[in-house]
Amino acid sequence: MTTANPRRSRTGTVYLLHFDQPYKHARHYLGWAADLNQRLMQHQQGHGARLLAVIRQHGITWTLARTWSGTRTRERQIKQQGGASRVCPHCGIRPPQRVWTPGELRPVARRLFAVIDGEWITNKPVITYAARQLSRRITGIPRTITPADLLGWSERTPTMKILNYTTPYIRKDGSVWCVQEDLESGSDNTCRMVVDLETGLTLFLPDYLVDVEADQPISRVGKHPWPLFRWATGADLHSSEIKEKTT
Ligand SMILES: [Zn+2]
Repeated sequence: MTTANPRRSRTGTVYLLHFDQPYKHARHYLGWAADLNQRLMQHQQGHGARLLAVIRQHGITWTLARTWSGTRTRERQIKQQGGASRVCPHCGIRPPQRVWTPGELRPVARRLFAVIDGEWITNKPVITYAARQLSRRITGIPRTITPADLLGWSERTPTMKILNYTTPYIRKDGSVWCVQEDLESGSDNTCRMVVDLETGLTLFLPDYLVDVEADQPISRVGKHPWPLFRWATGADLHSSEIKEKTT
């Protein structure tokens, strides 16, 4: 006779701890807790998991990187989906490498146009062009696209420099920034980098489109959050090996 395991079906919190220094090959601990606060207090004292006791002995601290609401089954799924470093915001979230068809990239292109407040200029050729730009960058290095790339200014007017993006820099809090120089009007704008969570593409957004100081990317124009985007970190920058971009 079998009975459902109540521990397996109970909803709690799956949590990811990111070690501030790696211990051998370990950089994360993924666990499940019915009461997360209580579990984190135990971990802080080196209890509840052998690995956390060991890293504590080595003086390594950790940060709560991410949580998911769910059961132990959810925890196991995340472990099986290719490891914690792929889903850790501190290490840079990397969606699994996959092949994107041009048709799948059209809605992605539409979403990016919404983010750059450019929906009003989209028509079929514009979206087709932008989807092709995305498919070229989605598997390449860097996986970065700028508003000028999407609009076709980089390619169609190569001799006419309209927008220039300076070398990105990382602030102390890990956020990634650059300056968008408008060479026509001579005005400069601060840009902050976001990651498109579906494709992993990174995009620089100027401060007149996005509230660059907000906790999450929020549209300056519509005042609404963009849940499919998050702020990029230095880890995303390194994983895409961005060099100076001139458009
Ligand atoms: Zn991490």
